[in-house]
Amino acid sequence: MKMDLKGKTAIVTGASRGIGRATALALAKAGADIVINYNRSGEAAEEVKAEIEAAGSRALSVRADVSSYSDCEALASAAIDHFKRIDILINNAGITADNLLIRMKPDEWSSVIDTNLTGVYNCTRAVMRPLLKQKSGGRIINVASVSGIYGNTGQANYAAAKGGVIAFTKSLAKELGSRSITVNAVAPGFIETDMTGELTEQFREGVLSRIALGRLGRAEEVAEVILFLASSASYVTGQVIAVDGCLAL
Ligand code: NAP
Repeated sequence: MKMDLKGKTAIVTGASRGIGRATALALAKAGADIVINYNRSGEAAEEVKAEIEAAGSRALSVRADVSSYSDCEALASAAIDHFKRIDILINNAGITADNLLIRMKPDEWSSVIDTNLTGVYNCTRAVMRPLLKQKSGGRIINVASVSGIYGNTGQANYAAAKGGVIAFTKSLAKELGSRSITVNAVAPGFIETDMTGELTEQFREGVLSRIALGRLGRAEEVAEVILFLASSASYVTGQVIAVDGCLAL
């Protein structure tokens, strides 16, 4: 299987921590130049950059809030200025603001939609022109969630955003197929990151009983699937791959 990304440039949003960080490291290991996007964790992003450079690949870290269109345009410009091309976009940045809908405040709704759904539109639209201009195909991988497939109590905002990301993925795959740009999504289940770090022991035990593999996933296990979609999976587009250890929600 060919997992060689030498000569390719990948932008990974939310690459300072968690799944984004693991993905940036995995793509770099396969030879890609990496644009590490972050919003608040500048120091952590610099550490990812140093780790990639120490392993012999090239990296650039760029602060951009994905919920801002102008920030995403600046992110795409920085990638082009520095590496002269963009081949792969990983839309990974995301947040949660869980609450039952009866208690969900307007800002808990809009912050999650703005970051997790509009952020995907913003970054994808911003890279589209350079990607099309290169005429050499490309890969877009969106990090959705099983919540966007099944729904989840307390996550109406998050599930709506991730369900939107899945519909966006399938639509864009149809728009860009003729340009050899594939667009796919991964839908992680429960993965050990800061995002799931605050789950109570009781909730965690309840979740474990519903996962066939009997454990939470690791960020690296999601990154492996993203790497596959970003490299060798040339005839896969418009798909959603669950990375959830067989979770029954
Ligand atoms: P995490 O550890 O909390 O990391 C989130 C990342 O997103 C951080 O690098 C953060 O950067 C970045 N981010 C947040 N808001 C941003 C913004 N407005 N602009 C740019 N970057 C922003 O979360 P994770 O678990 O790795 O989650 C990564 C993705 O996987 C998310 O889309 C999440 O919804 C999805 N997912 C996770 C799980 C899970 O169980 N962990 C399950 C399903 C789906 P800064 O710290 O620099 O702000």
